[in-house]
This record gives sequence, structure tokens and C-alpha cells, in this order.
Amino acid sequence: MFSKTGDKEGKKWPGSLAARMTLWYGLSAFALVLMATGFLYHALSMGLAQEDDVLLTQNIQSVKALLRESPGELEDLQQAVGDRETSPRVPWLWTRILDASSRVVAETPGMSKKLPAGSFPAAVSAALSPGLSSVIDSPDRRSFRVLSAKGDWPGHSPPDVTVQMAIDMTSDEDILEKFGSKLLWLLVVSLGACALAGYWIAQRGIRPVREIAGTASRIGSSTLHERLERSGLPSELFDLAGTFNDMLDRLEASFTRLTRFSSDIAHELRTPIQNLRVAVEVALRKEREPEEYRDFLGSCLEEYQRLSNLIDRLLFLARAEYPGASIEREKVNLKKELELLLDFYGLSASESGIALDIEAPEDLRAELDRSLFQRAVGNLVENALKYTSSGGNVRIKASATAGNIRVEVSDTGRGIPEDQLSRVFDRFYRVDESRTAVSGGAGLGLSIVKSIMDLHGGTVEIQSKVGQGTLVVLFFPIV
Ligand code: ADP
Repeated sequence: MFSKTGDKEGKKWPGSLAARMTLWYGLSAFALVLMATGFLYHALSMGLAQEDDVLLTQNIQSVKALLRESPGELEDLQQAVGDRETSPRVPWLWTRILDASSRVVAETPGMSKKLPAGSFPAAVSAALSPGLSSVIDSPDRRSFRVLSAKGDWPGHSPPDVTVQMAIDMTSDEDILEKFGSKLLWLLVVSLGACALAGYWIAQRGIRPVREIAGTASRIGSSTLHERLERSGLPSELFDLAGTFNDMLDRLEASFTRLTRFSSDIAHELRTPIQNLRVAVEVALRKEREPEEYRDFLGSCLEEYQRLSNLIDRLLFLARAEYPGASIEREKVNLKKELELLLDFYGLSASESGIALDIEAPEDLRAELDRSLFQRAVGNLVENALKYTSSGGNVRIKASATAGNIRVEVSDTGRGIPEDQLSRVFDRFYRVDESRTAVSGGAGLGLSIVKSIMDLHGGTVEIQSKVGQGTLVVLFFPIV
């Protein structure tokens, strides 16, 4: 999200969220306006057609009534047909009466030219009802809504007549055309308005994302304490900002740990190097006997050994923390591995007057990194021997539990105060600075054990009681 390639792509159209939102908002709003105007246009044209249809039906019915009421009075009829003026909206209503042999009895003047009798559809003989009219074009390309119906003229022989009637649709077409052109304008204006509204909505919608990006881009190693402001964010971004803040919490914690770790390293290295420098300065102050030089070099070597040991441990931790760090698992017999540790530490245990023993089933096997296993359990045994006084016990026990291989190292030593138990796995953490400085521990032993367990996907637990002893349990998951 914050990578450089992402930024570049973000400026191109297909990647721009704002452009997409503008387009979609604009198009959907315009589609709605288009549908609404289309519906209005259709409704108006249907309404006009219906009105004409009703007008035709009513007028034919009144002509038929006139025929019935004025039998044989042709003049009246011709006058009525010729003078018939309609509503102002429909300028002309054209009427023609044909007798049984299709001869024109009466018609609106000029009708034969515009609308010959043969161009009308067949006459309706049933009772008139709306919806029977149809549309025809005159020779001069004007449209007419027409209806013809059978009628009865008692004064004529034979009395059967046909009434043909037409409404000029020009004014309807004019109305529709004017309305259509107004709608077209409305569409053009609404297209622009929809695009603008879409752009505005997209900009408003995208603003919190921009704010998040702005804050994120300001956060650097010196401002890792800054957090995204979550109040007022929409729910989707609220969660995202929460996740981002959690990530910052983790980063800040690692960063603080790293800073403390490097200052601890500097501190740990400074003391032995200063000791060495002072020792060399004192030795060089005057001429000395070869015996004295030998003693001096011997103590320097001890200090160098401590330094190289410390650097080894730090390197190990750095490698174990490397994200791609892997281990080489092999099938090992745990009893045999513990026996090797017993051989290694047995002598120093008996010299300190501590009973060291192991307990493990003969055939207990596990897939572990052998040297790391030796190192982890070795560190625990070293600690147990270091913090247990003469006459105490140290016991190493291995067993299989549900899904795990459990290896525990217990002692009857001085124990660890409960409030410090949670910190003993931290790097350079020592329970009693003055005492451990004498015994030489740098506070890295348990953090190395923790790293080894992490590499195996396992866990480590510690229980202790001051004055009674300590129990450290390693859980290696069975693979
Ligand atoms: P160190 O190398 O100083 O022993 P560790 O990381 O191994 O460092 O242990 C951290 C601290 O935990 C030690 O300083 C010590 O005080 C305490 N500790 C560890 N193991 C034991 C134990 N078996 N008994 C008592 N204290 C212990």
C-alpha cells in the first residue's frame, strides 16, 4: 500500500480509486436520470395518444347520434361535419360519412385530398370503446389518428352508413418534440452535474484514506510513537487504522528492544575492554619479572575468553532471530543426549558437591536439532549448577506428553523472586547484578534457550521459589 510502485500505479487511471468512484457514481446517477426522462417521455406520448383515442370515440358517437336524430337532413349534416372545430389542442377533427355503396355523403372540406376514404382501416361494427383507433400517414406525410365505425341513418336508403373520423396528430408531435428537446437539455446538464457530484462524493469518500496515508508517510524511526487518529473514521477504515496502529505498537516495541539491546552490548563490552586496558597500562609502568608477565598474560587470556564467549552468544542470538533461520532436525535418542550432558557436567557437579542425575525412558526419540538441544539443556544445567549450593540436587528429566517432548531441569538452589520470573528470558537480564557479575553470567543464557525453543516451534516455562529451587520446562512439539 505504501510502496513506491503502488504510488506510481495509483496515479494512472485504472488504479485511481477516486477516478473509479467518480466514474461509477456519475454513470449510475446519469443512468437513473436517463431512465426517469425516458419514462416521462413515454408517459406523455401514451397520454396524448389516449386522449386522442377518447376524443375520436366520443366524437364518432356524437356524429352517430346526430345521424339518428336528423334523418334525411343532409344540409344539417354537411354543415355539422364541415364546421366541426375541436379543442384548441387538436386543431382539426376530420369527419366523413359514406353510404352503403361507399359514396361520400358528407365530409370536412378538403378531406378527400388529405385522407382518401380507402386509406382508413375497416369500420368497427361493434359498440365503440377506447383503444380501437389506429395511426395512418397522409400523402403529405402527416400523421393522423383515425377511427371508422358503422352507423345508422334512418332517413337514407339503405340506412347503413360508415363514419370515418381523423385527428391531426401534428400538435401532439409538436408537444412531444418540444418536451423531448427540453429533456435532452436536462440530460446534458445532468450528465455534467452527475459527474461533478460523483467527483465530489469520491473526494469526500477518499479523504480519510488520504489522511491515513499522510500520517503514515510522516511516521519515521524518530516518530514511531505517533498513531493514526481513529475517531471519525468510517467503520472499514477504523479497523484498518487499528491494524496499522497495532503494527506500529509492535514496531515500536522491537525498535525499543533493539536500541536497548545495542546499548547493553556496548555496556557489556566496555567493562572487560576497560579492564584489559587498565591491566596493560599497569603492566607497562615498570620493568617486571618474566613470572609476573606470565600471570598478567594469563589473566588477559581469561578476559579475552569471556569476551569471545559473549560475542559468540550475541552472534548466535542474532542468527537465531534472522527471519530465514532454520534448524537441522535429526532423530535423536533423548536418553543418550542427556547422558552426554551428564558426562560433560558430572565432574564440575561433584566438585561443587551437587548431585546431578538424569531420568528418561530408554527409547524416547524426537526429531530435534542435536547441537541446539545440547546447548539449550546445557545452559539450563549450567544455571542450575551455578545457583545451587553444595549438598543440593540437579535433575534432568525427559518424557513424552500429548503432542510434546517434555524436558525439564530442576534444582534445589536459591530460586528466583516471583516478580522477576517474567523477565529472566530478556537479554542481559540478571536477577542479582552483583552476584552474577562474580559468577560471570551475562544474562544471555535463558534468552538463548528461548530462541532455541522458538526455532523448534516449542515453548519454555519457568517456576521458582526463593530458597527452594527452580524448575525450567522445555516443550518440543513432536513433528
Ligand atoms: P546468566 O548467564 O547470567 O545466568 P541467564 O539468562 O541464564 O543469565 O539467567 C538470567 C538470570 O536468571 C540469572 O542472572 C539468574 O539470576 C537467574 N537464574 C537463571 N537460572 C536460575 C536458577 N536455576 N536458579 C536461580 N536463578 C537463576
